[in-house]
Amino acid sequence: MYYSDDLVAEVRSRNDIVDVVGSYISLTKKGSNYVGICPFHSDHTPSFSVSRSKQIYKCFACNEAGNVITFIMKYENVTFPEAIRILGERAGITLPEVEVSDEEKRRANKKLRLLEVNKEAATYFYKCLRSPHGEKGLKYFQDRGLTEETMKHFGLGYAGINGREVVEYLRKKGFSDEEIKDSGIASISERNGLSSPFWNRVMYPIMDANHRVIGFGGRVLGDAKPKYLNSPETDIFDKRRNLYGFVFARNARSGNFILCEGYMDVIAMHQAGFNQAVASLGTAFTEEQARLVARYTKKVYFAYDSDGPGVNAALRAIEILKKVGISGRVIDMRPYKDPDEFIKALGAEEFQKRIDNAENSFYFLIRTLHDKHDLNDPEERTAFYREIAQKLCEEFDEPLERDNYMIGICEKYGIDSGKMKNLVIDVASRGVTAETYQKPKPPKREKSNEEDSEKAAQARLLTWITDEPEILDRVKKYISLSDFTDELYRKVAEMVFEGIEKGNLDPSAVIDRFEEEERSEVAGLFQAQLPDTDTEEERKRSFSDIVIRVRENSYNHFCESNANDMSKLKESIQLKKDLENLKKTGVSLN
Ligand SMILES: [Zn+2]
Repeated sequence: MYYSDDLVAEVRSRNDIVDVVGSYISLTKKGSNYVGICPFHSDHTPSFSVSRSKQIYKCFACNEAGNVITFIMKYENVTFPEAIRILGERAGITLPEVEVSDEEKRRANKKLRLLEVNKEAATYFYKCLRSPHGEKGLKYFQDRGLTEETMKHFGLGYAGINGREVVEYLRKKGFSDEEIKDSGIASISERNGLSSPFWNRVMYPIMDANHRVIGFGGRVLGDAKPKYLNSPETDIFDKRRNLYGFVFARNARSGNFILCEGYMDVIAMHQAGFNQAVASLGTAFTEEQARLVARYTKKVYFAYDSDGPGVNAALRAIEILKKVGISGRVIDMRPYKDPDEFIKALGAEEFQKRIDNAENSFYFLIRTLHDKHDLNDPEERTAFYREIAQKLCEEFDEPLERDNYMIGICEKYGIDSGKMKNLVIDVASRGVTAETYQKPKPPKREKSNEEDSEKAAQARLLTWITDEPEILDRVKKYISLSDFTDELYRKVAEMVFEGIEKGNLDPSAVIDRFEEEERSEVAGLFQAQLPDTDTEEERKRSFSDIVIRVRENSYNHFCESNANDMSKLKESIQLKKDLENLKKTGVSLN
């Protein structure tokens, strides 16, 4: 699916960002902007700012930023073309069909039909739970402590006493056998013809982010196998990309997600008020699911079963989360097995305490190693220590970070830290080399702070120019495009300069010219926080400061990248002189 730039521009221009965002969250006018509570992170203060003149939004707390299209993509969890469709419909723009091939159209129609089959099946299961046949199912949920409200919220159902009734029901609703089969609700067998594998099971409809039923999980009542049965993958049901409970969790204002193992855990947690709980769909946690989670939060807790398989599943999921830059924390539910049992026994408040005290995933890893060894046995103790050393080497490249963890672990398990350090060096010398361990790398953090503030000055300058395009001529006396040391910033600056010169600068359009993952950062450049100034005098001074800061950064970059090039020395000296002069005279705004 592809829409032309013109069409995208029309959709953007006919959906005013303040109106659109205002229909999702409440906004109040403040100065030239509108502010509200950010929907993308947990907050109580209005850090979310929307600019009508620039048609962009930015959150000053979590830095999420973009235009009306990225807002819909993020809020509704949809793709770019889907966002265009939503906004097009909203503005009454007829989207051309010509760009859709017949094959695409057929597939889209098929998807819609499959969604309808699933929706009808969910209705059937839901009614069945409340019919005389469903008594067993209802009792099961009631025994698990679910309220009527919770059952409704999750659309829980019962699959009937045989696999043919649901098929009959769907046929009566006008679906063809092929559609019923393709939806995964039923399959054809020689003995039964078209019939559903779901019977004598309580049913958990699985919804996508838009509240559409895309599949089912069914738990058998009695001893038949398998205990849990899930819909097969279909055109609409991708187990790797969805999470059970996600439809509610994405709007939870908790600022974190809690990963659970099973559907029942998720439901019990939601009922107890933890509506940020999600679970994978009958398979192990996937990288796609990790990326989905990462779009909403970097804070993830594990509430996996505290038995052996649960611990191993948690360890695997921790590794997967690491790949998307999230270090999960593990909720200790002992002596209870799962969140459901825990909450039933000790209540929600106690569970919240366990969340607050959740263990860093590395400590959790070491604890699982600890539990495998009998430390009264000297040999086992040595093995345990070596495993710790091994993990310390594997997990941390930064010696400083590794030392911190090492000290923490040694304290916790009463290990002599000097001995442990020797072990770590020993292990490191076998694997990497002792040198890499002992040679301290320059501390990264300070550098990145410095980079941040360099970039901040460039971002402020871009925002200032966008807000007051008439100053561009002045700015150009001191600043050229090459002074934007970051490549992304330089590209944006180029578009801003060009837009102003042509008299058609549109920040929200600039955003769409970048790759999806760059858009938030680009939007942030148009809405950087400018210093508060009360008087004209202060305003002039802070403008001058920003310009000088950008020039200084540019000079430092020049020196760094030409440090060994003597031929650039003269140029460097001149740049330095200019900079010193500028610092003396200041930059004049008019
Ligand atoms: Zn935010």
